[in-house]
Amino acid sequence: MKLLQLAQELKSTQAALVLSEENRLYLTGFPSSNGTLLVTRDGNIFWTDSRYYEMACDAVEDAEVQLQDQLYAQVHEQLQKFGCTEILVEASRMTLDTLNTWRKMLPSYSFNVSNRLDRLTDSLREVKTEAEAEKMQRAQDIAEAALTELLPLVKPGAAERDLANELEYKMRRLGADGISFDTIVVSGENSSKPHGVPGERLIQTGDFVTIDFGAIYRHYHSDCTRTFAVGQPTEEMVNVYETVKRAQQAGLDCLRAGVAGADLDRTARDVIREAGYGEYFGHSTGHGVGVEIHEHPYAGPKSEDFLTEGSVVTCEPGIYLPGKFGVRIEDFVLVTASGHRNFCHLTKDLIVL
Ligand code: ZN
Ligand code: ZN
Repeated sequence: MKLLQLAQELKSTQAALVLSEENRLYLTGFPSSNGTLLVTRDGNIFWTDSRYYEMACDAVEDAEVQLQDQLYAQVHEQLQKFGCTEILVEASRMTLDTLNTWRKMLPSYSFNVSNRLDRLTDSLREVKTEAEAEKMQRAQDIAEAALTELLPLVKPGAAERDLANELEYKMRRLGADGISFDTIVVSGENSSKPHGVPGERLIQTGDFVTIDFGAIYRHYHSDCTRTFAVGQPTEEMVNVYETVKRAQQAGLDCLRAGVAGADLDRTARDVIREAGYGEYFGHSTGHGVGVEIHEHPYAGPKSEDFLTEGSVVTCEPGIYLPGKFGVRIEDFVLVTASGHRNFCHLTKDLIVL
């Protein structure tokens, strides 16, 4: 259906050449490492090789599937049939090498290398259908169930890396098709690195442990972060935690269709700044989530994106004190006309394990 929406945005002489894995998946519903999708007003064709051909015939939606043989000649033939003279390419996703090859093989066509096709696909992807939202909810439900199973293992003596591996295994066992990104489990002074890599460090009493994790369900990602205390936290730790929690809630409270991504960022950031920790929050407040873990809309200080009804965005402020500890709290939510629907149901009260 999204493929047909894209076709409607094209002129009759234009063809969209979709090569990127994520956009082919999004538009056809079919995942494959090899494939070429041609979208026009008058018809859509998907070419793939013998490894995928039979599966593609069953699974590709809204496009005719053809076995890839002499690809450039096949594309040329269809472009002639559809009367197309201009080819829109995915400027932000195509390498120069690939573009040069296509230009050489199809010299009689004009290639549109503006970002028009990327903008079209990005804006389609940004607005989720209810079916897409349901898959993301399912991904989060699986991830939350896995985290709940993991928590009894988060205790002094446990290694970060073991906990990360265990959480990934649990997500898969509970029905995830994959994991959204390498799971982050960072503890103690390691937790001051926002995207730290879980290592051999053993969790100690008095640590904060930050866990950033996500599952994939039917190609859709989830993304959530919680920070836990192992043993009694210090007053400073509690103060930082409560500041991040207030910032995150302020961000969520301002969410609704029409709000600028930059405003979401500022709303959360102001709380942290006013508490005196502004310099310790270096990353953006949020990003979109869908068939990719990072997509539009973006919510950073320089973002020009607006949150539309049906878009999915994270709200994930943090405070990171180098050499000491860090705290991040992250939910991802569906933006609605009057507010949002939160996919995450784990408590944000500070849990002392
Ligand atoms: Zn995350
Ligand atoms: Zn995130």
